[in-house]
Amino acid sequence: MTVRRILTRENPRLRMKSAKVKRVDRPMQTLIDDMIETMRAAEGVGLAAPQIGVLLRVIVCEYVDDETEELHQTVLINPEVLAKEGEWMAEEGCLSIPGYVGTVPRAVRVTVKGKDRKGKDVRIKTDGQLAHILQHEIDHLDGILFTDYLKSLDELREVESPRKRRRRASASGDSAESALSDETPPAGDEDQPEDTIDPAAAEAAVGSSAPTVGRGADDEPGRARQRYRDFCCGARGRRITCQ
Ligand SMILES: [Zn+2]
Repeated sequence: MTVRRILTRENPRLRMKSAKVKRVDRPMQTLIDDMIETMRAAEGVGLAAPQIGVLLRVIVCEYVDDETEELHQTVLINPEVLAKEGEWMAEEGCLSIPGYVGTVPRAVRVTVKGKDRKGKDVRIKTDGQLAHILQHEIDHLDGILFTDYLKSLDELREVESPRKRRRRASASGDSAESALSDETPPAGDEDQPEDTIDPAAAEAAVGSSAPTVGRGADDEPGRARQRYRDFCCGARGRRITCQ
């Protein structure tokens, strides 16, 4: 696995529409592994292939389930948003726009279909963290950055990068963790469980025991939780938050 260079905002490739993946082959597995490695190295919660200069419709996400405390990893190839419900104002940042965050409208709940890394068809209906991350990453595949939702770039807020903040905290002996809130996105309607896989799609994905959401193996839930807080700006005191 290789940590790739993440392109930043001024790079024109971030504004291009990525192409559909035709074959989920060995080079695709390498790309996915590199994306996961790069996302973790950059302390992000998600990464889209165009962010490392590969104009293919592939995203990876990693987050900790608030209730189960389990680390989840989602890989989606050719993801498509089928439905969006509700709206909240999410504060978020982007690995391609380091040091800045903004508040943008996001759906509370999304239904997304695509293929997992084995090439199996999957459908995810989710709210909370995964819904938030999926919307941000899928936008990248169409050349959309979260700043596009702002009226003006003046609305961006400058923040200390997670790495810098942690360096400073460890130098001063403080815990960066303690300075951050436990805010999460608003939950959707209570009548539907999170991260449900559509039964029809699950049935279609014969032989796939873990259609899309799998457990991350070599990362600690605590670190992933912190990464989501970083994505949501460590905002506190608001129901509507993120980095
Ligand atoms: Zn981004």
